[in-house]
Amino acid sequence: MNPIRQDFPILQRQFNGRPLIYLDNAATTQKPQVVIEAIDAYYAEHNANVHRAAHILAEEATTLMEQARTLTQDYINAADRSEVIFTRGTTEGINLVANILSNTIREGDEILISELEHHSNIVPWQLLAQRTGAKLKAIKIHSNGDLDIDDFHAQLSERTRIFSCSHVSNALGTINPIQEMVAAARDAGAVTLVDGAQAILHQSVDVQALDCDFYVFSGHKLYAPTGIGILYGKLALLEALPPWHGGGEMIEHVTIASSTYQKPPYKYEAGTPNIAGAVGLGAAITYLNTLPRAELVQQEDQLVEQTLQALKALPNIQLVGEPSKRSAVISFLMEGAHPHDIGTLLDQQGVALRTGHHCTMPLMAALGVPGTVRASFSLYSSQEDADRFIEAVNKAATFL
Ligand code: PMP
Repeated sequence: MNPIRQDFPILQRQFNGRPLIYLDNAATTQKPQVVIEAIDAYYAEHNANVHRAAHILAEEATTLMEQARTLTQDYINAADRSEVIFTRGTTEGINLVANILSNTIREGDEILISELEHHSNIVPWQLLAQRTGAKLKAIKIHSNGDLDIDDFHAQLSERTRIFSCSHVSNALGTINPIQEMVAAARDAGAVTLVDGAQAILHQSVDVQALDCDFYVFSGHKLYAPTGIGILYGKLALLEALPPWHGGGEMIEHVTIASSTYQKPPYKYEAGTPNIAGAVGLGAAITYLNTLPRAELVQQEDQLVEQTLQALKALPNIQLVGEPSKRSAVISFLMEGAHPHDIGTLLDQQGVALRTGHHCTMPLMAALGVPGTVRASFSLYSSQEDADRFIEAVNKAATFL
């Protein structure tokens, strides 16, 4: 039994007299009691709007939110706390960057992404390309789910103005050689963005070592609430680029004719932020800092590897993607069965996972599959989760 499971009340839920098996962590993670309590305490004791009225509650709320910013800064090793911007999540972070870069892009410029990307790292760039006349290009993948690095180098040129790529694939679990790719893209003169939505959950992220211009992730994949996320950006860029959303909090002085703006991060945080969400994110990071992360990640890797071997041993199972470096995601198909049917049969046995295209339709098209069944693990995943999952897949096979 994985001892940290006790910290997560929802993992105590039963299904037909047995524990519910949660293997949909790539979609969202469950929340530890300390995060739930921190949000509760915020509303019960400190709720006020931040950075405004000079009263005690407003001061407390502001302090709590700014503490969460500092905790995040330390967690991703950002050089300056002003580089940490609160957003709604990964999707909003990428849209923000795609919008503030608009004026730097001209017709004929190129934006380079990959075929592995989540739709939220595709569509904002399509919109930018449509606004500016730039060309959107995608690095090809190998059939095992690795990025084709030769194709990356072949497509990268001085025309590449933006390089935006996932750190870890949500559909296949591929861990991309992102540090080397960022370095090559930077040498070519591109602005670099890393979609860290999946990486943040499984490995320590050091934005200074990665040396990317932007790094984005969602709180809800890091044991924090939904509706809060982080955009990390290098300070010099954040200072130089224009704001995106306009409104309260982000201004310095306003006349009817024009406005001046606050410095980062506030320049990019228009309107009342998700204060409780930020507090929850701070509590999640504080909680994670108490855990032996390296040890837990190693256990998680072992569990994924064992599950993979057990799954491979079953008849009629086709793994989708066998990347050379894999994070805690396993995608597969069962011969002759639609992924949705497998999902339903597993759900009926108390195993919660995800089926479909996982918001990666271009990837599914490149692999020639309609979708997959995806089991995704987390720090609290246990041997029992893995065993029950294999047992349920085996049983599902007998129904089909
Ligand atoms: N990118 C990746 C790699 C993801 O896994 C996800 C979430 N599935 C997103 C982007 C979008 O995140 P959100 O919906 O939290 O904005």
